[in-house]
Parts: sequence; C-alpha cells; structure tokens
Amino acid sequence: MPSQREDCLFCKLYREGDHVASTKGFVAIRDINPQAPVHLLVIPEHHVDTFRDVAEIDGGETHRMLEFIADTAREAGLEDYKVQVNVGPTAGQTVFHLHWHILGRKHVVVDSVPAPTEVTEL
Ligand code: AMP
Ligand code: ZN
Repeated sequence: MPSQREDCLFCKLYREGDHVASTKGFVAIRDINPQAPVHLLVIPEHHVDTFRDVAEIDGGETHRMLEFIADTAREAGLEDYKVQVNVGPTAGQTVFHLHWHILGRKHVVVDSVPAPTEVTEL
C-alpha cells in the first residue's frame, strides 16, 4: 500500500491538487513559483522524504515514474527540457516529499507560418 502522511503538503496535493496529468500512483502539477515558462512537478503517491529513499519505491513503480515524467513533458509540449531533483536542504529542497521538477519552454515551430496564397489571374 502506498504511504501517505496527513501533515504533508504534497501528499495532500496528490489527493486533491489541480493535476495537469495523472496516472495510477503519480500526478503532475504546475509549480506555484515557476522558474521557467513551463515548470511542472511530478509527485508520487507513495511518500518518501527525499530521493535518497527512492529504493523504498518498488522497482516497477520507479520505472513507471520515469516514464510518466517523460510522457508529462511530451504532453506539455516540451521537446528539450530539464528534469531536476533537489536532495536535501542545502541542495534547495524545501518540500520533503520526493518530487521531480520538469523545466522547459515550449518548442517554437518556426516554419508554421502558412505560405502566401497564389493569386491566379482569370
Ligand atoms: P523543492 O524546493 O525542490 O523542494 O521544490 C518544491 C517546489 O514546490 C518549489 O518549486 C515550490 O515553488 C513548489 N511549491 C510549494 N508549494 C506549492 C503548491 N502549493 N503548489 C505548487 N507548487 C508548490
Ligand atoms: Zn508526502
């Protein structure tokens, strides 16, 4: 059974946040303080304090978590992007429930302007 903690913000956001994507055991939300044009957080249902404890998540679930991160980035319109995990306070971790930052900007399609229509003289 995945563990959840009553006093944990991300356990709460897993249950009742504004999810931009979800699959069994994982959700993605928008970061409240975005550091990039697209800044999402992937949160597992299973509470582990930090990435250091990732082995507490079953291997198959860990594989699905990584796939969900890639799927979420693709569905958000990102081609190139960063995936970041801050591990511990001095590395910038402020919420002690494992989460993955996805940071990027949407791919700009430069050749999407339609070609001018040819006018044929009658
Ligand atoms: P970290 O500093 O790696 O622990 O990441 C925690 C992230 O959670 C920060 O980027 C915060 O901006 C974000 N955050 C904190 N509270 C919320 C919230 N209620 N909804 C969405 N994102 C949040
Ligand atoms: Zn939690």
